[in-house]
Amino acid sequence: MPKVHFIGAGPGDPELITMKGARLLREAGVVIYAGSLVDRDLVHSHAPQAQVYDSSSMTLDETTAAIAEALLADKNVVRLHTGDPSIYGAIQEQMAELDRLGIDYEVVPGVTSAFAAAAALKQELTLPEVSQTVIFTRLEGRTPVPEREALQELAQIGATLVIYLSVSMIDRVVEELLQGEYTAETPAAVVYRASWPDEQVIEGTLADIGAKVKEAGIGKQALILVGNVLRARKEGLQAKSLLYDKEFSHGCRKGIVT
Ligand code: SAH
Repeated sequence: MPKVHFIGAGPGDPELITMKGARLLREAGVVIYAGSLVDRDLVHSHAPQAQVYDSSSMTLDETTAAIAEALLADKNVVRLHTGDPSIYGAIQEQMAELDRLGIDYEVVPGVTSAFAAAAALKQELTLPEVSQTVIFTRLEGRTPVPEREALQELAQIGATLVIYLSVSMIDRVVEELLQGEYTAETPAAVVYRASWPDEQVIEGTLADIGAKVKEAGIGKQALILVGNVLRARKEGLQAKSLLYDKEFSHGCRKGIVT
């Protein structure tokens, strides 16, 4: 029985697809991928024999029809998404169409760009006593955002923020964040094309990140990271995690009792 898999291709570096995702690509007869965001070489090197569709010029009806046709021709289908398919992947509507047609499918996770950006920055996003919460969000664009999730509302929490799809509106991002717990001194970073050969990292504070991003000419394919965790690298940790503390016992290790 041929199968349909939604697969996370990872953030860019072809080695950041999962082993399972790479295997399924090799076994695919048809691959549908977003040519604007996923590396063409990744598809061609793993699936040179496959029939390849670029979804950036296709409608939902067309991608669904391509999937259904492939199954009728007894071919495995891979629907390849950038990063992880569950984050701004628009997969729900595709899965709903397949459900409607009684077509079964599976989802294989991938490395979302937030984690490639954290790796580029060599930054832990959750630090004891600084922030234990990461919020993945975006500014409203053509896709509406519920009012209670407006950036200025989320800014009241003061958590680590990873902001997708918004670098072209960096001034508005900064303006909204300053209405909450963040100040002009709060560190911010922008990572452009994390894990690609032309990756760029820009670091600053909410006071200057906008100007730096514009000077670098970055208007898309970038993430904005904001929060006091970014300060720790320069100013040292306020508190260490208990996990490796010599006096802390946990399931796998007994601490030293003094
Ligand atoms: N599903 C994807 C996100 C798709 S939305 C994921 O999990 O990463 C597209 C947005 O993701 C872009 O506007 C940008 O904000 C971010 N993005 C995707 N790949 C990126 C990369 N390599 N570096 C930085 N940001 C990236």
